[in-house]
Amino acid sequence: MTATEVARQMALRHHTSKEATKALAEATVAGLILSSYCKSGEKVNLNIQGSGWCKQAIIDANADAEVRGYIVERPEIDIHLARNIGPWGIGLLSVLRTKTEESQPYIGTVPLLTGHLAKDLTFYWLQSEQVQSAVGIEVFMNGDEIVLAEGFLIQALPGATDEDIALIEDHLKKIHTLKLEAEQRKTPLNLISYILDNQSFSVLDETNISFKCPCSIERVKRSLCLIGSEELRSMLDEGKDVEILCDFCSEKYIFKIEMIAELIKTNET
Ligand SMILES: [Zn+2]
Repeated sequence: MTATEVARQMALRHHTSKEATKALAEATVAGLILSSYCKSGEKVNLNIQGSGWCKQAIIDANADAEVRGYIVERPEIDIHLARNIGPWGIGLLSVLRTKTEESQPYIGTVPLLTGHLAKDLTFYWLQSEQVQSAVGIEVFMNGDEIVLAEGFLIQALPGATDEDIALIEDHLKKIHTLKLEAEQRKTPLNLISYILDNQSFSVLDETNISFKCPCSIERVKRSLCLIGSEELRSMLDEGKDVEILCDFCSEKYIFKIEMIAELIKTNET
């Protein structure tokens, strides 16, 4: 899967630092890999909380490969920690899977042990889904720019022979030392062919990846109403326009003071 464009868009929206751009791109690829398991109407929420310089990342992705997300950096950077155990450090990786609005979501949580998302996600698949898997996530940067953000999830289906699995495992071990070849892999098909060591394969389905945040002025209005008239009244008393930022897409919603007065009126009728 290649998510370069989406990862670039997210970095632009959130004005992330170079390190956060890379970490957010990795988390986005991870969220999209998880969403590949969603059936129509389902969505996943990936929540990574770490002790490294990336404090938290939240990614929402759905069955249509629509994704949004953000990252929170820790203000005090512990360089020593970041260099030794990856950007995330130790912590927790939680996956909340929602089937429909009415049904109970399923939550799977695994410890973040290695500080590297791909390794910890491999553990997640084994723990939560009881499936032997290999997960790869690579984000290549040139200065502050993302050159390529890609990832893969390989799982052995019933019927795969030990030889087939051993062949791919052997090749996967080599891939980690061949980072530079990434620039020649422009499409996900190139990546699959590369991972499978040029063995033949069939493509069963393809999905376009896109950035999408469902926030809107109407939704923000509804959540403002929920905070109650008292809180709204104190905003009104301050006499300033109210600015509300969507964490997921950095879209700014500005409520003129007259709009706040209007909301109080609607709230009380
Ligand atoms: Zn938004």
